[in-house]
Amino acid sequence: MSNLPADFIKRINSQFADAGQFLKGLEDDKLWSVRLHPRRSGHDLELGSPVPWCDGGYYLDEKPQYTLNPLFHAGNFYPQEASSMFLQYLLGNIAGYLPDNPSVLDLSAAPGGKSTLIASWLNGRGVLVSNEVIRSRAWILHENMTKWGYSNVVVTNNDPADFRKLPGFFNLMVVDAPCSGEGMFRKDPAAADQWSVQNADLCAQRQRRILMDAWDALAQDGILIYSTCTFNPAENEENMQWLLTQADAECIEVDLNDLWNITSVKFNGGTGYAFYPHLTKGEGFFVAMFRKKEPAGKVSSKKNKKDKGKIKIKLPDGLFGSEDLVPVMHQNKIYAMPSGMAAVFDVLSSSLNVFGAGIEAGEIMRNEFVPSPFLPFALQFNRDFYPLVGLNREEALHFLKGSWSGQIPEGKGWHVVKYKESLLGFIKVVGNRVNNYYPKEWRIRMNIDNL
Ligand code: SAM
Repeated sequence: MSNLPADFIKRINSQFADAGQFLKGLEDDKLWSVRLHPRRSGHDLELGSPVPWCDGGYYLDEKPQYTLNPLFHAGNFYPQEASSMFLQYLLGNIAGYLPDNPSVLDLSAAPGGKSTLIASWLNGRGVLVSNEVIRSRAWILHENMTKWGYSNVVVTNNDPADFRKLPGFFNLMVVDAPCSGEGMFRKDPAAADQWSVQNADLCAQRQRRILMDAWDALAQDGILIYSTCTFNPAENEENMQWLLTQADAECIEVDLNDLWNITSVKFNGGTGYAFYPHLTKGEGFFVAMFRKKEPAGKVSSKKNKKDKGKIKIKLPDGLFGSEDLVPVMHQNKIYAMPSGMAAVFDVLSSSLNVFGAGIEAGEIMRNEFVPSPFLPFALQFNRDFYPLVGLNREEALHFLKGSWSGQIPEGKGWHVVKYKESLLGFIKVVGNRVNNYYPKEWRIRMNIDNL
């Protein structure tokens, strides 16, 4: 790579005995990969070999045009960097440390790679709070989590310090910290242009602040997974060691398959795992897991008892194919969520800025139930509740662009649009007109006229 900063090369040369090969590895071809949704089918992709540490993860021979694949918009797969999928392997290894229905926080979650993976791994158990501090990115996270379809997810837009209001609440916390991004240099050469020694140092300081802000919200015996996509020791092993000195915690180690060529990094009593470009088939990544040994605080029971004035709400019969969902009113909308999550939702919504929780089902307007445009993506949505309209690929892309090029369906009112067997959203037939209810913010902006 011609644009690697001189200071970066200097540090790599002093950091690695095989620095020459490391730097040559940064010249290798870019890697593309996706993770398939375990509960949906259909992807229209040419899959390459499987990612060995993640079920449902696949390398791709070239980067597909995701925007023009309606099954991407249906949430059937998520483009994710292969190294990041290692989280699935780690989660499989720590399951024994966690309760059956854990409370999980993904602190820096946008655009949603790790959160969609965690949601699939939980498969409806417990609750996942998927948080992003930057508001515009939190809406992207909300879109991706909505399309992924699990009902036990809360999307929030909070600063890490806000989680101090929830002492000891979470059994598992993922801190995929903002970092100097050295691991992305191969894929995104522009990242190298933004790099500087000063910025990398600032990142390391900020990560410490984030870790300390989050730590109180972790329960005793809870697990914190810390990751970055950089090779910088100050952001990786030195921060790992720093956390071990600040808190009563221990690193959790896992067995690695030698064929994966993932590097176990031992540093002053801690162990992390690193993905280097000349060794592992993935972009740069570092991850370490900590178990909190010290006692944690408790969320005050006052909040638990907060009664917002119960309103009697009912969801239309048969809207969901699952008995376990209960309706919860939040800011004039009806959400459906598993009863276990509904029990803690008061605590979460009184402490955090909630963008979405469970399944946004709809609202009552003039005594009529008006479905939310997000409803068809919910895994528990009963696909026979509204009439279905099948579209071909071109019609589906027009729908995703906010227009309508299909036939006008018979029958008035709400219809759900599908491409192949995957649901894409709502239309409403009014007279001989079709109104498109695909959310404006989600619409394809690309020109599709000359496909
Ligand atoms: N976990 C995400 C995924 O897998 O798709 C990627 C997260 S990215 C590495 C780091 C995230 O941290 C970004 O979304 C960024 O907006 C967010 N961030 C930026 N400043 C932050 C801060 N001070 N505290 C917490 N998160 C921050």
